[in-house]
Amino acid sequence: MIAHAPGIDPAYTKGMSSSAPSIFSKIVSREIPADIVMENDRLIALRDIAPKAPVHLLVVPKTQQYANVAELAADDPQLLAELVAMAQELASEHANGEFRLVFNSGETAGQTVFHVHAHVLTGGLDEGSLAG
Ligand code: 5GP
Repeated sequence: MIAHAPGIDPAYTKGMSSSAPSIFSKIVSREIPADIVMENDRLIALRDIAPKAPVHLLVVPKTQQYANVAELAADDPQLLAELVAMAQELASEHANGEFRLVFNSGETAGQTVFHVHAHVLTGGLDEGSLAG
């Protein structure tokens, strides 16, 4: 067992990213406001603050332990399946049930929040438009 100095984030001492609450964790805890459109015990869905489509929602696991979709798929494929099912339900509720699902994975792929989340884009997409 590795001992950690009090007050030092163990993730930091291992050279990993800080475990300070992400923007989405702050939304989950209602520390910051958001337009939340669906929620269950493991997932939350909200409107993106800078929409790239007529309907642009984010589906986010409540845990921030996974930085990206590959980590989520490797460790909790059931939660990933639940996330996809929620995306389908949202697309049916907010549009015609068809949707584009985007996971930006890594900074050079456009990821800015390192707490895994899916972009659900629907409601009339321009040909070739992708969330960036
Ligand atoms: P990424 O670039 O990491 O794939 O996606 C992060 C998304 O979160 C962006 O589309 C961005 O507009 C959205 N976003 C960032 N901060 C907030 C916020 O405070 N509230 C909401 N609703 N969306 C946010």
